[in-house]
Amino acid sequence: MSEVRELLTETARRAGRFLESLPGRHVAASRDAGELVPALGGALPRNGMPASEILARLDEIGGQGVVASAGPRYFGFVTGGVLPASLAASWLAAAWDQNAFSEVSSPTGAAVERVAMRWVLEILGLPADAGAAFVTGATMANFTALAAARRAVLLAHGHDVDRDGLGTAPRITVVVGEQAHATLFKALGMIGLGRERVVRVPADEQGRMRVDALPILTGPAIVCTQAGNVNSGAFDPVGEVCDAVRAGDVRVHVDGAFGLWARASGRLAELAAGVERADSWATDAHKWLNVPYDSGLAIVRDAGMLRGAMSVQADYLPDRASRDPFEFTPETSRRMRGLEVWAAVASLGRDGLEELVERNCRQARRFAAGLRDAGCEILNDVVLNQVLVAFGDDRATTEVIRGVQREGTCWCGGTQWNGRAAMRISVSSWATTDDDVERSLAAILRVADAVRGPASTEG
Ligand SMILES: *Cc1c(COP(=O)(O)O)cnc(C)c1O
Repeated sequence: MSEVRELLTETARRAGRFLESLPGRHVAASRDAGELVPALGGALPRNGMPASEILARLDEIGGQGVVASAGPRYFGFVTGGVLPASLAASWLAAAWDQNAFSEVSSPTGAAVERVAMRWVLEILGLPADAGAAFVTGATMANFTALAAARRAVLLAHGHDVDRDGLGTAPRITVVVGEQAHATLFKALGMIGLGRERVVRVPADEQGRMRVDALPILTGPAIVCTQAGNVNSGAFDPVGEVCDAVRAGDVRVHVDGAFGLWARASGRLAELAAGVERADSWATDAHKWLNVPYDSGLAIVRDAGMLRGAMSVQADYLPDRASRDPFEFTPETSRRMRGLEVWAAVASLGRDGLEELVERNCRQARRFAAGLRDAGCEILNDVVLNQVLVAFGDDRATTEVIRGVQREGTCWCGGTQWNGRAAMRISVSSWATTDDDVERSLAAILRVADAVRGPASTEG
Protein backbone atom coordinates (compact mmCIF):
# COMPACT_ATOMS: atom_id res chain seq x y z
CA MET A 1 0.00 0.00 0.00
CA SER A 2 1.29 3.48 -0.80
CA GLU A 3 1.97 5.81 2.10
CA VAL A 4 -0.96 8.11 1.35
CA ARG A 5 -3.31 5.17 1.01
CA GLU A 6 -2.15 3.83 4.35
CA LEU A 7 -2.74 7.24 5.91
CA LEU A 8 -6.24 7.51 4.51
CA THR A 9 -7.06 3.97 5.55
CA GLU A 10 -5.95 4.80 9.08
CA THR A 11 -8.06 7.98 8.92
CA ALA A 12 -11.08 5.95 7.87
CA ARG A 13 -10.45 3.52 10.73
CA ARG A 14 -10.30 6.33 13.29
CA ALA A 15 -13.29 8.19 11.83
CA GLY A 16 -15.31 4.98 11.72
CA ARG A 17 -14.50 4.30 15.36
CA PHE A 18 -15.66 7.80 16.25
CA LEU A 19 -18.94 7.43 14.36
CA GLU A 20 -19.56 4.04 15.98
CA SER A 21 -19.03 5.63 19.39
CA LEU A 22 -21.67 8.32 18.80
CA PRO A 23 -24.80 6.49 20.02
CA GLY A 24 -23.17 5.80 23.41
CA ARG A 25 -21.01 8.87 23.72
CA HIS A 26 -21.44 11.66 26.29
CA VAL A 27 -22.89 14.33 24.00
CA ALA A 28 -21.01 17.33 25.37
CA ALA A 29 -17.25 17.59 24.78
CA SER A 30 -15.04 16.38 27.61
CA ARG A 31 -12.44 19.18 27.26
CA ASP A 32 -12.89 22.88 26.64
CA ALA A 33 -10.89 24.96 24.20
CA GLY A 34 -8.72 26.46 26.94
CA GLU A 35 -7.55 22.99 27.94
CA LEU A 36 -6.94 21.91 24.37
CA VAL A 37 -4.78 24.84 23.30
CA PRO A 38 -1.71 23.83 25.32
CA ALA A 39 -2.19 20.18 24.38
CA LEU A 40 -2.31 20.98 20.67
CA GLY A 41 0.01 23.95 20.86
CA GLY A 42 3.53 24.47 22.07
CA ALA A 43 6.06 26.38 20.04
CA LEU A 44 5.73 26.69 16.27
CA PRO A 45 7.39 23.47 15.05
CA ARG A 46 10.65 24.05 13.22
CA ASN A 47 10.45 20.73 11.44
CA GLY A 48 7.44 18.95 10.10
CA MET A 49 5.93 15.89 11.76
CA PRO A 50 4.99 12.66 9.96
CA ALA A 51 1.35 12.70 8.79
CA SER A 52 0.50 9.52 10.70
CA GLU A 53 1.68 11.11 13.93
CA ILE A 54 -0.32 14.28 13.22
CA LEU A 55 -3.42 12.20 12.66
CA ALA A 56 -2.95 10.21 15.86
CA ARG A 57 -2.38 13.38 17.87
CA LEU A 58 -5.45 15.06 16.42
CA ASP A 59 -7.62 12.05 17.08
CA GLU A 60 -6.40 11.53 20.62
CA ILE A 61 -6.23 15.15 21.77
CA GLY A 62 -8.66 16.88 19.41
CA GLY A 63 -11.21 14.12 19.83
CA GLN A 64 -11.68 15.16 23.47
CA GLY A 65 -13.06 18.52 22.44
CA VAL A 66 -15.51 17.17 19.90
CA VAL A 67 -19.23 17.64 20.56
CA ALA A 68 -21.30 14.64 19.45
CA SER A 69 -23.43 16.85 17.20
CA ALA A 70 -23.20 14.26 14.44
CA GLY A 71 -24.89 11.83 16.81
CA PRO A 72 -28.56 11.05 17.35
CA ARG A 73 -29.20 13.02 20.57
CA TYR A 74 -27.84 16.46 19.84
CA PHE A 75 -30.73 18.93 19.90
CA GLY A 76 -28.79 22.18 20.19
CA PHE A 77 -29.15 25.14 17.81
CA VAL A 78 -30.48 23.70 14.52
CA THR A 79 -27.69 21.38 13.62
CA GLY A 80 -28.40 18.17 11.75
CA GLY A 81 -25.89 15.35 11.52
CA VAL A 82 -24.07 14.08 8.48
CA LEU A 83 -25.46 11.44 6.15
CA PRO A 84 -22.89 8.71 5.42
CA ALA A 85 -23.14 9.18 1.64
CA SER A 86 -22.56 12.89 2.02
CA LEU A 87 -19.59 12.39 4.33
CA ALA A 88 -18.04 9.94 1.89
CA ALA A 89 -18.62 12.37 -0.98
CA SER A 90 -16.92 15.08 1.04
CA TRP A 91 -13.84 12.90 1.54
CA LEU A 92 -13.65 12.10 -2.15
CA ALA A 93 -14.07 15.77 -3.06
CA ALA A 94 -11.25 16.69 -0.68
CA ALA A 95 -9.01 14.13 -2.36
CA TRP A 96 -9.95 15.48 -5.80
CA ASP A 97 -9.08 18.99 -4.57
CA GLN A 98 -11.00 20.64 -7.37
CA ASN A 99 -11.38 24.36 -7.71
CA ALA A 100 -15.11 24.46 -8.36
CA PHE A 101 -15.11 28.11 -9.46
CA SER A 102 -15.50 27.27 -13.15
CA GLU A 103 -16.25 24.56 -15.62
CA VAL A 104 -12.70 24.79 -17.00
CA SER A 105 -11.14 24.14 -13.61
CA SER A 106 -13.57 21.32 -12.80
CA PRO A 107 -16.16 19.94 -15.22
CA THR A 108 -17.39 17.61 -12.48
CA GLY A 109 -17.69 20.50 -10.04
CA ALA A 110 -19.84 22.49 -12.46
CA ALA A 111 -21.96 19.49 -13.47
CA VAL A 112 -22.60 18.33 -9.92
CA GLU A 113 -23.68 21.82 -8.86
CA ARG A 114 -26.07 22.13 -11.77
CA VAL A 115 -27.74 18.81 -10.99
CA ALA A 116 -27.83 19.40 -7.22
CA MET A 117 -29.38 22.82 -7.80
CA ARG A 118 -32.08 21.46 -10.07
CA TRP A 119 -32.92 18.79 -7.50
CA VAL A 120 -33.04 21.24 -4.61
CA LEU A 121 -35.25 23.70 -6.54
CA GLU A 122 -37.65 20.88 -7.33
CA ILE A 123 -37.72 19.68 -3.69
CA LEU A 124 -38.34 23.21 -2.43
CA GLY A 125 -40.93 23.96 -5.12
CA LEU A 126 -39.04 27.03 -6.37
CA PRO A 127 -38.78 28.20 -9.99
CA ALA A 128 -36.59 25.86 -12.05
CA ASP A 129 -34.93 28.78 -13.86
CA ALA A 130 -33.95 30.65 -10.68
CA GLY A 131 -30.30 31.53 -10.20
CA ALA A 132 -28.58 29.75 -7.35
CA ALA A 133 -25.27 29.71 -5.58
CA PHE A 134 -23.70 27.18 -3.25
CA VAL A 135 -22.30 29.17 -0.34
CA THR A 136 -21.07 28.47 3.18
CA GLY A 137 -24.38 28.78 5.04
CA ALA A 138 -27.52 30.82 5.51
CA THR A 139 -25.62 33.92 6.63
CA MET A 140 -23.79 34.04 3.31
CA ALA A 141 -26.91 32.95 1.45
CA ASN A 142 -28.77 35.93 2.94
CA PHE A 143 -25.84 38.17 2.03
CA THR A 144 -25.77 36.89 -1.56
CA ALA A 145 -29.52 37.02 -2.17
CA LEU A 146 -29.83 40.45 -0.55
CA ALA A 147 -27.04 41.77 -2.77
CA ALA A 148 -29.13 40.64 -5.77
CA ALA A 149 -32.22 42.28 -4.27
CA ARG A 150 -30.29 45.51 -3.67
CA ARG A 151 -29.24 45.48 -7.32
CA ALA A 152 -32.80 44.89 -8.55
CA VAL A 153 -34.57 47.55 -6.49
CA LEU A 154 -31.99 50.20 -7.38
CA LEU A 155 -31.92 49.28 -11.08
CA ALA A 156 -35.67 49.96 -11.02
CA HIS A 157 -34.65 53.54 -10.16
CA GLY A 158 -31.94 53.68 -12.84
CA HIS A 159 -29.05 53.16 -10.44
CA ASP A 160 -26.45 50.39 -10.97
CA VAL A 161 -25.27 49.89 -7.40
CA ASP A 162 -22.69 47.26 -8.27
CA ARG A 163 -21.00 49.71 -10.64
CA ASP A 164 -21.59 52.99 -8.84
CA GLY A 165 -21.94 52.06 -5.18
CA LEU A 166 -24.40 53.21 -2.56
CA GLY A 167 -23.16 56.79 -2.13
CA THR A 168 -25.41 58.35 -4.77
CA ALA A 169 -28.12 55.69 -4.69
CA PRO A 170 -31.73 56.31 -3.72
CA ARG A 171 -32.35 55.24 -0.14
CA ILE A 172 -33.58 51.64 0.20
CA THR A 173 -36.22 50.93 2.85
CA VAL A 174 -35.36 47.62 4.52
CA VAL A 175 -38.23 45.89 6.30
CA VAL A 176 -37.60 42.98 8.68
CA GLY A 177 -39.72 40.97 11.06
CA GLU A 178 -39.16 41.72 14.72
CA GLN A 179 -38.06 38.09 15.10
CA ALA A 180 -35.62 38.01 12.17
CA HIS A 181 -32.52 35.89 12.76
CA ALA A 182 -29.52 37.77 14.19
CA THR A 183 -27.36 36.90 11.18
CA LEU A 184 -29.78 38.62 8.78
CA PHE A 185 -28.78 41.95 10.33
CA LYS A 186 -25.14 41.09 9.82
CA ALA A 187 -25.82 40.34 6.15
CA LEU A 188 -27.58 43.72 5.83
CA GLY A 189 -24.57 45.40 7.39
CA MET A 190 -22.16 43.67 5.03
CA ILE A 191 -24.00 44.93 1.95
CA GLY A 192 -24.00 48.48 3.25
CA LEU A 193 -27.68 48.73 4.13
CA GLY A 194 -26.94 48.85 7.84
CA ARG A 195 -27.78 46.53 10.69
CA GLU A 196 -30.00 49.05 12.43
CA ARG A 197 -31.42 51.18 9.63
CA VAL A 198 -34.40 48.86 9.29
CA VAL A 199 -38.14 49.04 9.81
CA ARG A 200 -39.10 46.32 12.27
CA VAL A 201 -42.53 44.79 11.83
CA PRO A 202 -44.07 43.52 15.09
CA ALA A 203 -44.53 39.77 15.44
CA ASP A 204 -47.36 37.72 16.92
CA GLU A 205 -46.90 35.45 19.94
CA GLN A 206 -45.36 32.68 17.78
CA GLY A 207 -42.85 35.07 16.24
CA ARG A 208 -44.62 35.51 12.88
CA MET A 209 -44.45 38.86 11.09
CA ARG A 210 -47.81 40.65 11.35
CA VAL A 211 -48.95 41.54 7.85
CA ASP A 212 -51.39 44.12 9.23
CA ALA A 213 -48.42 45.99 10.70
CA LEU A 214 -46.43 46.25 7.44
CA PRO A 215 -45.52 49.84 6.55
CA ILE A 216 -46.68 51.47 3.32
CA LEU A 217 -43.68 51.33 1.01
CA THR A 218 -42.65 54.03 -1.40
CA GLY A 219 -39.39 53.96 -3.30
CA PRO A 220 -36.94 51.06 -3.43
CA ALA A 221 -37.52 48.51 -0.68
CA ILE A 222 -36.47 45.05 0.44
CA VAL A 223 -38.76 43.06 2.72
CA CYS A 224 -37.03 40.27 4.64
CA THR A 225 -39.32 37.46 5.74
CA GLN A 226 -38.58 34.24 7.54
CA ALA A 227 -39.60 30.64 6.94
CA GLY A 228 -38.86 28.88 10.22
CA ASN A 229 -38.29 30.94 13.36
CA VAL A 230 -35.10 29.69 14.97
CA ASN A 231 -36.87 29.36 18.33
CA SER A 232 -40.48 28.45 17.62
CA GLY A 233 -40.24 27.09 14.06
CA ALA A 234 -43.09 29.43 13.01
CA PHE A 235 -43.39 30.79 9.47
CA ASP A 236 -44.04 34.36 8.40
CA PRO A 237 -47.07 34.55 6.07
CA VAL A 238 -44.82 35.10 3.06
CA GLY A 239 -47.58 34.89 0.43
CA GLU A 240 -49.62 37.56 2.19
CA VAL A 241 -46.55 39.75 2.56
CA CYS A 242 -45.96 39.42 -1.21
CA ASP A 243 -49.55 40.51 -1.87
CA ALA A 244 -49.19 43.48 0.47
CA VAL A 245 -45.98 44.92 -0.96
CA ARG A 246 -45.94 43.90 -4.63
CA ALA A 247 -44.24 46.62 -6.72
CA GLY A 248 -41.51 46.88 -9.35
CA ASP A 249 -39.02 48.36 -6.92
CA VAL A 250 -39.76 46.04 -3.99
CA ARG A 251 -38.21 42.62 -3.47
CA VAL A 252 -39.34 40.05 -0.92
CA HIS A 253 -36.61 37.83 0.49
CA VAL A 254 -37.10 34.67 2.57
CA ASP A 255 -34.64 33.46 5.19
CA GLY A 256 -35.53 29.77 5.24
CA ALA A 257 -32.36 28.36 6.75
CA PHE A 258 -34.07 25.21 7.95
CA GLY A 259 -37.81 25.91 7.59
CA LEU A 260 -37.77 25.88 3.80
CA TRP A 261 -37.18 22.13 3.96
CA ALA A 262 -40.73 21.70 5.29
CA ARG A 263 -41.60 21.94 1.61
CA ALA A 264 -40.05 18.49 1.11
CA SER A 265 -43.07 17.10 2.94
CA GLY A 266 -46.54 16.96 1.41
CA ARG A 267 -48.06 17.22 4.88
CA LEU A 268 -45.94 20.14 6.12
CA ALA A 269 -45.67 22.15 2.90
CA GLU A 270 -48.81 24.05 3.91
CA LEU A 271 -46.79 25.81 6.62
CA ALA A 272 -44.60 27.38 3.97
CA ALA A 273 -47.36 28.03 1.44
CA GLY A 274 -46.80 31.19 -0.59
CA VAL A 275 -43.04 31.12 -0.06
CA GLU A 276 -42.61 30.36 -3.77
CA ARG A 277 -43.97 33.80 -4.62
CA ALA A 278 -41.03 35.64 -3.05
CA ASP A 279 -38.08 36.93 -5.09
CA SER A 280 -35.21 35.25 -3.30
CA TRP A 281 -34.52 32.57 -0.72
CA ALA A 282 -31.68 31.61 1.59
CA THR A 283 -31.35 28.15 3.03
CA ASP A 284 -28.88 25.83 4.69
CA ALA A 285 -27.91 22.37 3.58
CA HIS A 286 -25.83 21.70 6.70
CA LYS A 287 -28.91 21.85 8.90
CA TRP A 288 -31.84 19.70 7.82
CA LEU A 289 -30.31 18.17 4.70
CA ASN A 290 -27.62 16.69 6.98
CA VAL A 291 -24.54 17.45 4.88
CA PRO A 292 -21.14 18.37 6.37
CA TYR A 293 -20.29 21.99 7.21
CA ASP A 294 -20.27 24.39 5.60
CA SER A 295 -23.09 24.44 3.11
CA GLY A 296 -25.93 26.78 2.21
CA LEU A 297 -27.78 27.95 -0.89
CA ALA A 298 -28.75 31.39 -2.15
CA ILE A 299 -31.58 31.26 -4.66
CA VAL A 300 -32.76 34.26 -6.71
CA ARG A 301 -35.79 34.23 -9.02
CA ASP A 302 -34.17 36.63 -11.49
CA ALA A 303 -30.88 34.86 -12.20
CA GLY A 304 -29.64 37.93 -14.05
CA MET A 305 -29.73 39.99 -10.85
CA LEU A 306 -27.64 37.42 -9.00
CA ARG A 307 -25.20 37.26 -11.87
CA GLY A 308 -25.06 41.03 -12.10
CA ALA A 309 -24.20 41.31 -8.42
CA MET A 310 -21.64 38.50 -8.31
CA SER A 311 -19.96 38.24 -11.73
CA VAL A 312 -16.44 39.49 -12.41
CA GLN A 313 -14.51 40.32 -15.56
CA ALA A 314 -10.90 39.44 -16.26
CA ASP A 315 -9.05 38.61 -19.44
CA TYR A 316 -8.00 35.16 -18.29
CA LEU A 317 -11.47 34.12 -17.11
CA PRO A 318 -13.73 31.88 -19.21
CA ASP A 319 -16.11 33.53 -21.69
CA ARG A 320 -19.60 34.60 -20.63
CA ALA A 321 -21.51 32.00 -22.60
CA SER A 322 -20.91 29.37 -19.94
CA ARG A 323 -22.76 29.05 -16.66
CA ASP A 324 -19.79 29.15 -14.36
CA PRO A 325 -20.38 28.96 -10.60
CA PHE A 326 -18.14 31.97 -9.88
CA GLU A 327 -20.57 34.26 -11.70
CA PHE A 328 -23.19 33.57 -9.05
CA THR A 329 -21.20 33.28 -5.82
CA PRO A 330 -19.42 35.77 -3.56
CA GLU A 331 -16.33 33.56 -3.59
CA THR A 332 -14.28 32.81 -6.66
CA SER A 333 -11.98 29.87 -5.88
CA ARG A 334 -13.93 27.43 -3.77
CA ARG A 335 -14.34 23.78 -2.87
CA MET A 336 -16.82 21.51 -4.58
CA ARG A 337 -19.53 22.14 -2.02
CA GLY A 338 -22.37 20.97 -4.25
CA LEU A 339 -21.10 17.39 -4.29
CA GLU A 340 -22.22 16.82 -0.70
CA VAL A 341 -25.69 18.15 -1.47
CA TRP A 342 -25.86 15.98 -4.56
CA ALA A 343 -24.88 12.92 -2.52
CA ALA A 344 -27.34 13.68 0.29
CA VAL A 345 -30.26 14.04 -2.11
CA ALA A 346 -29.16 10.96 -4.07
CA SER A 347 -28.95 8.91 -0.89
CA LEU A 348 -32.30 10.00 0.58
CA GLY A 349 -34.33 10.42 -2.57
CA ARG A 350 -37.49 12.49 -2.50
CA ASP A 351 -39.31 10.03 -0.27
CA GLY A 352 -36.41 9.63 2.13
CA LEU A 353 -36.12 13.37 2.63
CA GLU A 354 -39.86 13.64 3.22
CA GLU A 355 -39.63 10.82 5.76
CA LEU A 356 -36.69 12.51 7.53
CA VAL A 357 -38.45 15.87 7.82
CA GLU A 358 -41.74 14.35 8.95
CA ARG A 359 -40.03 12.01 11.44
CA ASN A 360 -38.12 14.88 13.07
CA CYS A 361 -41.34 16.89 13.37
CA ARG A 362 -43.18 13.91 14.86
CA GLN A 363 -40.28 13.48 17.30
CA ALA A 364 -40.53 17.15 18.28
CA ARG A 365 -44.24 16.65 19.02
CA ARG A 366 -43.38 13.60 21.11
CA PHE A 367 -40.89 15.66 23.14
CA ALA A 368 -43.55 18.31 23.69
CA ALA A 369 -46.22 15.78 24.73
CA GLY A 370 -43.87 13.94 27.09
CA LEU A 371 -42.69 17.13 28.74
CA ARG A 372 -46.21 18.55 29.02
CA ASP A 373 -47.46 15.31 30.58
CA ALA A 374 -44.75 15.67 33.21
CA GLY A 375 -45.94 19.16 34.11
CA CYS A 376 -43.44 21.19 32.09
CA GLU A 377 -44.63 24.21 30.18
CA ILE A 378 -44.42 24.15 26.38
CA LEU A 379 -44.08 27.75 25.24
CA ASN A 380 -44.62 27.45 21.48
CA ASP A 381 -47.04 25.80 19.07
CA VAL A 382 -44.95 22.84 17.96
CA VAL A 383 -45.64 23.17 14.24
CA LEU A 384 -42.23 22.01 13.01
CA ASN A 385 -39.11 20.57 14.63
CA GLN A 386 -38.64 23.13 17.42
CA VAL A 387 -39.80 22.83 21.02
CA LEU A 388 -39.51 25.56 23.65
CA VAL A 389 -39.96 24.39 27.21
CA ALA A 390 -39.83 26.04 30.63
CA PHE A 391 -39.32 24.19 33.91
CA GLY A 392 -40.78 26.81 36.23
CA ASP A 393 -39.08 30.15 36.74
CA ASP A 394 -36.05 31.32 34.74
CA ARG A 395 -33.63 30.13 37.39
CA ALA A 396 -35.06 26.61 37.38
CA THR A 397 -35.09 26.47 33.58
CA THR A 398 -31.49 27.64 33.36
CA GLU A 399 -30.48 25.06 35.94
CA VAL A 400 -32.22 22.27 34.06
CA ILE A 401 -30.46 23.26 30.82
CA ARG A 402 -27.10 23.22 32.57
CA GLY A 403 -27.94 19.91 34.22
CA VAL A 404 -28.99 18.28 30.94
CA GLN A 405 -25.77 19.37 29.26
CA ARG A 406 -23.71 18.02 32.16
CA GLU A 407 -25.63 14.73 32.34
CA GLY A 408 -24.68 13.96 28.74
CA THR A 409 -27.47 11.74 27.41
CA CYS A 410 -28.47 14.57 25.10
CA TRP A 411 -27.66 18.23 24.54
CA CYS A 412 -30.15 21.10 24.44
CA GLY A 413 -29.43 24.81 24.50
CA GLY A 414 -31.21 27.77 26.01
CA THR A 415 -32.92 30.86 24.69
CA GLN A 416 -35.24 33.69 25.68
CA TRP A 417 -38.83 33.48 24.47
CA ASN A 418 -41.36 36.27 25.04
CA GLY A 419 -39.30 37.47 27.97
CA ARG A 420 -38.77 34.07 29.59
CA ALA A 421 -35.88 31.63 29.77
CA ALA A 422 -36.58 28.50 27.74
CA MET A 423 -34.85 25.29 26.83
CA ARG A 424 -34.76 24.82 23.11
CA ILE A 425 -35.05 21.37 21.54
CA SER A 426 -34.34 21.22 17.84
CA VAL A 427 -34.80 17.85 16.14
CA SER A 428 -33.04 17.86 12.79
CA SER A 429 -30.80 14.81 12.50
CA TRP A 430 -31.23 11.84 10.17
CA ALA A 431 -29.73 9.71 12.97
CA THR A 432 -32.35 10.41 15.66
CA THR A 433 -34.51 7.37 16.38
CA ASP A 434 -37.69 7.26 18.43
CA ASP A 435 -35.71 5.42 21.08
CA ASP A 436 -33.23 8.32 21.22
CA VAL A 437 -36.16 10.64 21.89
CA GLU A 438 -37.46 8.44 24.75
CA ARG A 439 -33.99 8.18 26.30
CA SER A 440 -33.50 11.94 26.03
CA LEU A 441 -36.95 12.69 27.41
CA ALA A 442 -36.27 10.45 30.40
CA ALA A 443 -32.91 12.12 31.01
CA ILE A 444 -34.38 15.63 30.80
CA LEU A 445 -37.15 14.70 33.25
CA ARG A 446 -34.64 13.11 35.66
CA VAL A 447 -32.66 16.35 35.68
CA ALA A 448 -35.83 18.45 36.01
CA ASP A 449 -36.97 16.34 38.96
CA ALA A 450 -33.64 16.86 40.68
CA VAL A 451 -33.90 20.63 40.16
CA ARG A 452 -37.58 21.09 41.01
CA GLY A 453 -38.15 18.21 43.39
CA PRO A 454 -40.11 15.18 42.10
CA ALA A 455 -43.50 16.25 43.51
CA SER A 456 -43.79 19.18 41.09
CA THR A 457 -43.66 16.93 38.00
CA GLU A 458 -47.05 15.34 38.83
CA GLY A 459 -49.32 16.84 36.15
C1 LIG B 1 -29.10 29.05 11.27
C2 LIG B 1 -29.83 30.19 10.74
C3 LIG B 1 -29.18 31.24 10.08
C4 LIG B 1 -27.68 31.31 9.98
O1 LIG B 1 -27.21 30.22 9.24
P1 LIG B 1 -25.69 29.81 9.16
O2 LIG B 1 -25.73 28.57 8.36
O3 LIG B 1 -25.24 29.59 10.57
O4 LIG B 1 -24.94 30.91 8.51
C5 LIG B 1 -29.95 32.25 9.55
N1 LIG B 1 -31.29 32.24 9.66
C6 LIG B 1 -31.96 31.25 10.29
C7 LIG B 1 -33.44 31.30 10.38
C8 LIG B 1 -31.25 30.19 10.85
O5 LIG B 1 -31.90 29.20 11.47
